[in-house]
Amino acid sequence: MMKYQPVIGMEVHIELSTRSKMFCSCSAEFFGVEPNTHTCPVCLGMPGTLPVINRQAIENTIRLGQALHCEIQPHNVFARKNYFYPDLPKGYQITQYELPLCLNGYVNVEPESSAPKQIRIRRIHLEEDTGKLTHVGQSSLVDLNRAGVPLVEIVTEADIESADEAYEYVSKLRQMVRYLGIGTGDMEKGAMRCEVNLSLMDTATGKWGTKVEVKNLNSFRAVRNAIAYEIERQTEVLDEGGKIEQVTMGWDENRGVTIVQRIKEGDTGYRYFPEPDLPPLFLEQTWIDELATSLPELPEVKITRYSQEYGLSKKETLILTDDQATAHYFDSAVAAASPTVTPKLISNWVTGEMFRLLSETNSNISQVKIQPTDLVKLIELVNSNIINQPAAKQTFAVMFETGRAPQAIVEELGLQQISDSGAIVGIVQQIIADNPQPVEQFKQGKETIIKFLVGQVMRASKGKANPQLAEQVLREQLQA
Ligand SMILES: [Zn+2]
Repeated sequence: MMKYQPVIGMEVHIELSTRSKMFCSCSAEFFGVEPNTHTCPVCLGMPGTLPVINRQAIENTIRLGQALHCEIQPHNVFARKNYFYPDLPKGYQITQYELPLCLNGYVNVEPESSAPKQIRIRRIHLEEDTGKLTHVGQSSLVDLNRAGVPLVEIVTEADIESADEAYEYVSKLRQMVRYLGIGTGDMEKGAMRCEVNLSLMDTATGKWGTKVEVKNLNSFRAVRNAIAYEIERQTEVLDEGGKIEQVTMGWDENRGVTIVQRIKEGDTGYRYFPEPDLPPLFLEQTWIDELATSLPELPEVKITRYSQEYGLSKKETLILTDDQATAHYFDSAVAAASPTVTPKLISNWVTGEMFRLLSETNSNISQVKIQPTDLVKLIELVNSNIINQPAAKQTFAVMFETGRAPQAIVEELGLQQISDSGAIVGIVQQIIADNPQPVEQFKQGKETIIKFLVGQVMRASKGKANPQLAEQVLREQLQA
């Protein structure tokens, strides 16, 4: 048994891709935009201005909560979180405190290094993002384009026990946000930001240690590495009889270490109170129900359907559902398929040749030129023995490059297989004449040599012979 058990909770901020900001009509799309051009008196915090709630942001937060199995709170209230910082023009942030939109959800994770488990979500609340500071020499520059962009914060219970679980959890969250189309979840652009609370529990006494907060985790890799580092650091401190300080730390990506940023202050410093400029929200249950029925088919449901209805392997279901574009491609092909073209055959092509060529060309599924209906036609050509498997691969490569339909390529390259036994007999007789020794071995009962002879027929036909037919004709001729 381990001496210490890591106890980890996460707070993840995700920007919502709404058209306008949370409380004003400024564009919420600010990436790469000239600084301070997406601002107005409301998001600049001018006296006398009033916020107006963005309905789309509420809707997106409810949908996220529903997808993560949360209870949606029909009654919720925006609150002021008071603090002074140069990136916060009003001197307070509008957020939700006692009555958030979503409570008590969960995310299922299947880390590679441990058993599948559920990470409970304590709450999801909606707030506005702050501006962005850039430090240049002795000065700091303020860009308020981001100030007021809708931001959801997803807070877990302290259910995470390892760096791998945390990695899986944030991957699942981002996947969900992308499936719902409510945000990009691009960590490198700051559209998703992670914080970790970590302490070590003494497994002998069950007592939790002092909690350390790690901020500025700007990639999935940083989440994993910072947690692994912090577990090791705290273990060392405790083993040497030291004490863990309650601090907020940052992650230094280059050096691969956590560094103390400040001594942690409690919530009490923020003097939360209900936002007086906004009414409390009472959401109609019919609207909440409508949103629930409008959710797309989510990854877990797809995985179950692919495995139960189509008999696909776990690995295949994970590849196909990883992003929505791949799942959509696969679903479109299955929908277009005739009875002989099974989902399994389609999956073989998508997870096999298609992904191989995508990685070879460093592209993604949304750039694929092959129409799902053309993939189905290609499989039909194989099923009806018009082309064999190697010819199908060759055709597929041309389809991948050009987006052309398979029939035309097969004709142009002369890939139709020889399924006429008359045409094969000539080749078979030649092979038998040219290979007296293997033929003799076969006649003496060395059954496996037939594979070699079929291979020779295939080669002589430039790969166009139907292999089953070639074997059949070979056996007939050898017995003659
Ligand atoms: Zn504005």
